[in-house]
Amino acid sequence: MIAHDLETGIARLQDLVAQAKVVVPFTGAGISTECGIPDFRSPGGIWTKMRPIEFSDFLASRDMRDESWRRRFAMEEQFGGAKPGRGHLALAALYRAGKVPGVITQNIDNLHQASGIAADRVVELHGNTTYATCLDCAKRYELSWVKERYVASGGRSPDCGCGGFIKTATVSFGQAMPEDAMRRAQELTESSDLFISIGSSLVVWPAAGFPLAAKRNGARLVIVNRDPTEFDDIADLVLRHDIGAVFAPFIAH
Ligand SMILES: [Zn+2]
Repeated sequence: MIAHDLETGIARLQDLVAQAKVVVPFTGAGISTECGIPDFRSPGGIWTKMRPIEFSDFLASRDMRDESWRRRFAMEEQFGGAKPGRGHLALAALYRAGKVPGVITQNIDNLHQASGIAADRVVELHGNTTYATCLDCAKRYELSWVKERYVASGGRSPDCGCGGFIKTATVSFGQAMPEDAMRRAQELTESSDLFISIGSSLVVWPAAGFPLAAKRNGARLVIVNRDPTEFDDIADLVLRHDIGAVFAPFIAH
């Protein structure tokens, strides 16, 4: 059912949330656009102008690793100060109220954690770009540490003490999906009786699998996205409205 207008859509969503015992949100780039973080994959997005660095290229070439860090630090200047938006704050309020046991996200921006959801309750399918890890020993590095060495060496990316390469904790194109995150996302999905997809086009696999799994499991499905998705037909409610406007009434004051 596609909501005719914003008001009736919000009222219906409030009813569904009130009736649900376990609400599991699944978030994509659309929830962060009002925070100033562009949707990299959208038409006109960065990745349609600049080819992303594949994982195999990162491993094979020091120049690619340097370029990858150059891009990361350029991004920091643009979006480093991003704050949670209304969608993030609403989900954090539902989390504090005990309705939401955890959030599944395709985003790498750390904004769910910044909104107050415990880090171990945020399942990041594509990792996190706000810190780095060694690809060999998994040691964690802060971006400030990497940047200091990158700048001091004239734009060379530092390696770990163990000799491994240091990379943002994201899942790159061509890199395997994190098994642990996939398993936790599946468990969360199956635990829900209301699954809300927010700001995801639901095109990129494995994203597309979760709403379907929720629906098969008997949960109600809500899709909040600016553009139509191919799952709108099986959704119990579809809101094609601004995400911040849809979720503003759910922010606890
Ligand atoms: Zn290491």
